[in-house]
Amino acid sequence: MKILIADDEMVGRRVIAKQLESWGHEVLIAKDGQEAFELFQKHDARMVITDWMMPNLDGPGLCAKIRASEAGSENLCFVILLTSKDSSEDLACGMEAGANDFITKPFHHLELKARLANGERILSLQAELQRQKDDADHLARTDALTQLMNRRAMLNTMRLDEDRMRRERRPLGMIMIDIDHFKAVNDNYGHAVGDMVLKGAADCYSSAIRGGDYVGRWGGEEFLIALPGADIIQCAEVAERCRQQLANMRFTTNHGQTVQVTASFGTSSAEGSNRAELLDLVEQADRALYWAKDSGRDRVKIYVASADPNRK
Ligand code: GH3
Ligand code: MG
Ligand code: MG
Repeated sequence: MKILIADDEMVGRRVIAKQLESWGHEVLIAKDGQEAFELFQKHDARMVITDWMMPNLDGPGLCAKIRASEAGSENLCFVILLTSKDSSEDLACGMEAGANDFITKPFHHLELKARLANGERILSLQAELQRQKDDADHLARTDALTQLMNRRAMLNTMRLDEDRMRRERRPLGMIMIDIDHFKAVNDNYGHAVGDMVLKGAADCYSSAIRGGDYVGRWGGEEFLIALPGADIIQCAEVAERCRQQLANMRFTTNHGQTVQVTASFGTSSAEGSNRAELLDLVEQADRALYWAKDSGRDRVKIYVASADPNRK
């Protein structure tokens, strides 16, 4: 483990450093709190052993700075205060500043070892918790079949982009996609083949879009692409590229049959202050998709407000 030691007494810090190194740890040494804080930031140390009284910045001051820098971060560090103070008031003050543990000088190396082990246990529990939280977040955002963003994640991300595009007075584009006669794929080849086609379509769209654009699974066989900064023509170009790539794909079933699908595409885009609300934009893309279905499928339609009898 990488351990940062802060102590203004050269002999003291050397003794601890030697001890820690003999246990196989990597040691960073600072001669006061200020230097320790700089090393902490630079090396991302997770374990800090700090003397209480030091020039420039003392131990509790270092703790407080470390805690302030951790605000909002998931990587917390374990701080042990080394001290000859042992009154309840002193302990409370150290704890308040954010110390996790104390070692009273002079100490036996076995005590240091035990307190380090305790700190390591807490750090690894904390890391495990964080991993589980990340996994849960990922599951909550991700469509299990296609590994694309699900509708909720897509909406959250689009809301952020809508705000950003509004500030930058740039358009936000949408492409709503629905696979044509997809029910027939399930009916003719089975649900597993339907799933394979959905995954293939997801990969197709992911690879056809540019960096900064993103695609999510909106519903069963419906996908939505968001294109921050794209006007309606750019949206239509991307949609047409997706349309062609999907139409050119061939899926092979376990029985050696070849399956081919097409999809219909509706696009919408609106500029900064004229922009409809996000959900209106999605609805407009959906409306254009309906026009694409209605006029024969396997095509791209652009949303034109004047052509929309349902226009708000
Ligand atoms: P259209 O061209 O008008 O869009 O016709 P369609 O058959 O694609 O549309 P419809 O809405 O009638 O059927 C969609 C089908 O998609 C029905 C549903 O069972 C299927 N579906 C939805 N989600 C999944 C899924 O996760 N896996 C599979 N295999 N099928 C799904
Ligand atoms: Mg469909
Ligand atoms: Mg559908």
